[in-house]
Parts: sequence; C-alpha cells; structure tokens
Amino acid sequence: MSDTRFDLAIIGAGPGGYVAAIRASQLGMRTAIVERERLGGICLNWGCIPTKALLRTSELYQSMRRASEFGLAADNVRFDLGRVVERSRKVAERLVNGVGYLMRKNNIAVIDGTARLKGEGRIAVTGKVGDALADIEASHIIVATGARARTLPGLEPDGRLVWTYKEAMVPESFPRSLLIIGSGAIGIEFASFYRSLGAEVMVVEMLPRILPAEDAEISDLARKAFARQGIAIHTGTRVERLVKSADSVTATLRKADGSAAEITAERVILAIGITGNVEGLGLEEQGVKVENGHIVVDEWCRTAAPGLCAIGDVVGPPWLAHKASHEGVLCIEKIAGVEGVHPMDKTNIPGCTYSAPQVASVGLTEEEARAAGHELKIGRFPYSANGKAIALGETEGLVKTIFDAKTGALLGAHLLGDEATELIQGFVIAKTLETTEAELIAAIFPHPTLSEMMGESALDAFGRAIHL
Ligand code: FAD
Repeated sequence: MSDTRFDLAIIGAGPGGYVAAIRASQLGMRTAIVERERLGGICLNWGCIPTKALLRTSELYQSMRRASEFGLAADNVRFDLGRVVERSRKVAERLVNGVGYLMRKNNIAVIDGTARLKGEGRIAVTGKVGDALADIEASHIIVATGARARTLPGLEPDGRLVWTYKEAMVPESFPRSLLIIGSGAIGIEFASFYRSLGAEVMVVEMLPRILPAEDAEISDLARKAFARQGIAIHTGTRVERLVKSADSVTATLRKADGSAAEITAERVILAIGITGNVEGLGLEEQGVKVENGHIVVDEWCRTAAPGLCAIGDVVGPPWLAHKASHEGVLCIEKIAGVEGVHPMDKTNIPGCTYSAPQVASVGLTEEEARAAGHELKIGRFPYSANGKAIALGETEGLVKTIFDAKTGALLGAHLLGDEATELIQGFVIAKTLETTEAELIAAIFPHPTLSEMMGESALDAFGRAIHL
C-alpha cells in the first residue's frame, strides 16, 4: 500500500471524471483518478460510443436494402451478429485506449481500484477482493461515479431473458422479438437498432408519449415514423409483471384505463431510467446530501462537504456525457479560480437520440416555453422541401424553431430527421450566444445542405420562408 498526496483526486473515469482530470492537469494541479472498471466509464464502454457503432451497422443495412432506389444492386444483404458486436467492442476499445494515452500525456495518476471517502481529504482505494491498495490525500476531491440502469420490483434484469443496456449491446443471438420497457433515448435507440435488423419490436411507455423529454410535436412525428417501420408502441401503459419461460418472457400490460393485455417476446430490455452510483462511497459520513439516488450539489458542483464536489450522472439529469464533461470543466475551473467561469445553463444542453430517424433538441419545448409565459413565434421546415434531403433520399423529418415573439430570442430548436444530431450543434451555438431570429436569418447557409432548413425554419417563424 502506498500513501500519496495530490491537489485533486477524482473517483470515476467516465466523461465527467477523465475530462475534469485533464482540465485540472492543464491548470497545473497534481491529479489522481481512481477507476474500478475501465477508463471512459459507461459512455465509452457501455453507452454512447458502442451504441453508435451498432446503429451505424443498422443504418448501413437499411441503406443497402434501399440500394435499387439509388441505381445500385445489393442482393441478399445479410448481417453477421458476431461481427456486428465485435466491431462495436473494437470501437469502444480504441477510445478507451485513447483515454489511457490522454491520462499519460497529462501526467495523471490512474489508480485501478474502488474508492471510498475517509474524510478530511482522504480516500481509501481497495482492489477487487477488498485488499487495501492505496491511501490518497487531496486538497480537493470530485465524485464522478456515474449511474447504472434503474430497476423495479418484479422487473429485475437477469442478464439472460431480461436485459439492461449492457446485455442488449452484446447479444449472443439475435432475438426474433423484443419488448422494450421505456421510450427515452436508450430504449428508442435499441428499438431502432433491433427493428432495422429485422426483429419484431414492441415499446411500452408509461407516459402518454414516447421520448417524453422531447417537444410533443416531434415526439408525435417520431412515433408515426417508428410505427411505419413496424415498431409496436404502447403509450400510457405500465408493465405490471414479467413471467419467464424457457426462452421467452410474457409481460402483463396495464393501460391507464385499467384494461390489461399480455404480450410475449423472446427478450426484454429494461430502459426505465438510471440511478446514481452513490452506495459504498461513505457519502453520508461526510455530510453529503443524497436525494432520489443522486448527490445534491450547487451550481459549481459543490456538495455540502467542504472540498468535496460531484459531477456527471451521479448528480442527476440530464444523464448525458457532454453534460458530465461540461460540469467537470466548470467545477475544476471554479476550484482553480479561473476568471469568467459560468454555471451551466441547462437549457443550452442538447439532447440527441440516434435512431432512424434521429431526434435532437436544445432549449425549451413549445409546452415549456408557453408555460414560462413567452408569447411565441414558431417556425417549421420539413425535410421534404429541402434539396439536399431529397438528393439524399431522406425526406422524412422536420426542423422546428421556437422564438420569443417580443424579443426574437431563440428559445428552443427541435429536430427529427437525417443528421439531426449533427445539425443541432448550429442551434446550440446560436442559443449559447443568445441569438435572435434576426441573426439566424442573416446567417448564410451553404447550398445544398440540410443546414438550410435551420435558416428556413427561422424564416418560417416570422412568415418569411422562401421554399415553402
Ligand atoms: P460514467 O460514465 O458512468 O463513469 C463513472 C465511472 O465511475 C465508471 O467507470 C465507474 O466504474 C466508476 N466508479 C463508480 N464508483 C466507483 C468507485 N467507488 N471507485 C472507483 N470508480 C468508481 N450520453 C450521451 O451524451 N450521448 C449518448 O449517445 C449516450 N448514449 C448512451 C447509451 C446508453 C446505452 C447508455 C447506458 C448511456 C448513454 N449515454 C449517452 C449516457 C452517458 O453514457 C452518461 O451520461 C455518461 O457516461 C456519464 O458520465 P459520468 O462520468 O458521469 O459517469
């Protein structure tokens, strides 16, 4: 066992922790990071990256099946599940190695073990079998331990028939039918992947609509698009129980009106949200407040315990990698006394769902903007009226923009369609710079691009769309 002193110690090397570590090192802090599994956290190993690698396969598969539309011949298109999964794991591996390189480059001490707070700036690190590995002392400590899949009594995953995202990402065989419980981004991305490759997919959502965090109009359009692809969607429906047989699961569904139904699927994916990794850290002993499975922090990510901060999924929604990284940077910069650091404006955090079609948004939904008392100007521009979308053969979708009628401030942007998750960035910059409609309308968008829809949507909000 070694004893070591650092300026900063971070628990957890996901996109929150490892990004905070790099920024701290850039600012001259002697930094250690403790990780009990693998560098990169959920994002690189079991989340953002491997799912996008899987979705690239299903996207290409669908494109190949449409080959004749583009004057190409691609007969008998098939997939090899083992190789699909292998590619996804290799992509994850490459990025995990990349984080290892960045840790070395920035002289960050990586400690392989499980950390527990001991108070007064001390952390005990233990190995796989609880063996004491190190005692670290640091002036500042950041908890970045992330989160895991939430489960409910009666709906526990077993890794064989009832999966969480982990098993769903590395299937040994392709399920012919799949029940997905929960229609947030994770549930919908798996629905899209498995449906695109030919599984019968059913999605059950307790709330009245899918992708509940999204603008209602976009959520409705997305539902129609997925229904056309053959995904069966049951909203306003609860899964009451799961009964397992040898190679399938039967779910009892209860609708809001009290009626019940049963559906059977080969596999079930639980995607009903996540809960913070707050256990076993000694948080309570340090006086840290934990509410609803998440650590309570202030706008600078400070907990109630002096010198102890927390960032990322463990501090609550939105559970997104870029939010975790951003918190990491602002937390470090505040600790280091960097000038001009701002607390995060949550309305500027984009949300993306990489299904086909994609969904992306930033800012207030129409309902939220109305509830906040804004008088609105709303623009809509359909993909079907955009030259590049027609050339690409991707005419399904909409770019919706929401402005304050009085000031012209961009309040929100909501997209459904091809490359929506790339397009949203234009609106993120606009919103971060507190853009008004006048500036968006004055911007020159390259032709022919999907981005032209962003300008047209702003024009439409003020009755000036050119191509409608
Ligand atoms: P994590 O990435 O969870 O990292 C926390 C780390 O802490 C883990 O490596 C864990 O092993 C370690 N740890 C925990 N406790 C201890 C301890 N006591 N000692 C030592 N180490 C510890 N987000 C997006 O922005 N875009 C996406 O497309 C996206 N897709 C996703 C798809 C799926 C299927 C899932 C599950 C998530 C997805 N997410 C996505 C969410 C994203 O992965 C998380 O928001 C992000 O990983 C959170 O980062 P974090 O650093 O807070 O925590």
